[in-house]
Amino acid sequence: MSELRPHAIAADRVFDGSVVHHDAAVVIEGARIIKLIPRATLDSSIATHALSPDAWLAPGFIDIQVNGGGDVLFNETPTPEGIATIVAAHRRFGTTALLPTLITDSDQKMSRALEAVQVMVEREPGVLGIHLEGPFLSPQKPGVHHPGFIRRPETHHAAMLTSLREGVTLVTLAPEEVPQSFVTALTVKGVRVALGHSMATYKQTHAAMAEGLTGFTHLFNAMRPLESREPGPIAAALESKAAWYSLIVDGVHVDPAMLRLALQGRGHAMLVTDAMPPVGGALTQFALYGNEITTRNGQCTAEDGRLAGSAIDMATAVRNCTRLLKLPLPDALRMASREPASFLGLGDRLGRLAPGYRADLVAFDPGPVTVTATWVAGRYHASS
Ligand SMILES: [Zn+2]
Repeated sequence: MSELRPHAIAADRVFDGSVVHHDAAVVIEGARIIKLIPRATLDSSIATHALSPDAWLAPGFIDIQVNGGGDVLFNETPTPEGIATIVAAHRRFGTTALLPTLITDSDQKMSRALEAVQVMVEREPGVLGIHLEGPFLSPQKPGVHHPGFIRRPETHHAAMLTSLREGVTLVTLAPEEVPQSFVTALTVKGVRVALGHSMATYKQTHAAMAEGLTGFTHLFNAMRPLESREPGPIAAALESKAAWYSLIVDGVHVDPAMLRLALQGRGHAMLVTDAMPPVGGALTQFALYGNEITTRNGQCTAEDGRLAGSAIDMATAVRNCTRLLKLPLPDALRMASREPASFLGLGDRLGRLAPGYRADLVAFDPGPVTVTATWVAGRYHASS
């Protein structure tokens, strides 16, 4: 079927980002959604892709923290080809848009990553921009980031971090490690700023939020914990309606009880994978800064036992929400699409199945959340 002429996808269940429609169809023309209608009212002359009985159709997943996939690590391969491999690997698991994520590295590597993303934002709709996780992090909370590259910003860094001409730039930083007004210098240029790998106090967190910080990267992990007299960033995130916090729901990074606590917060919870090369790849080992990382039992660990990102894909994160957290499927789907879209300022075009929105969709079997197909800007991709 021609993807330029109007065509439809029909399913027993269509989640539009807010509610579930029974026996409905999404009509697409080119890269856009025209309408979502009851299947019975579909014009019989329109080419229709009918999903198998019981399958769901939902907004494609948006993953704002993807270090790698398809055996490629973005830090090792900061090229358009590397990004293309990562995008294809994650698309099989329902991710229709993502931010390639560069963890703490040299200025030269950051520049190469930004140049590669600039090329891909123009070429590949599945690339929304870049996530720079670091290098302005707390030396006390490095995780697997290379301590030798963790540093404070110099005068040229604000210009570098705001240099992407198209697409979104997300920067994860430790607010206590950057000068006053640094966060503002980024947010006034449209950069999304998230707190992460940080020992910021509650007060320091609020000061950064006043400068425009709205995100919290992998809440709970690599940040000052909740304490009785120093609530730190976690309390600041949970009590703010204007906060978006990402969660790694792999059953390893955060205890399910803590995740359920996060879901009680007033802010917006988002799913991220923090995925490493093994996702959608064939290898169980990869190199990070020249050190060997091994994947075993769904975990990526360094030789010293530290967690090094995750081995999950977004479909698994959604499934874990329903199984580990007993979350209704629509809530998990919203955390995988609509919430990250609004955090990135793209909530008017991504994350919903509604007229005018980009035709990014995922079709899946709801029990195991097994993805069968995706559409990215209206283009069909089989998952098998
Ligand atoms: Zn991290």
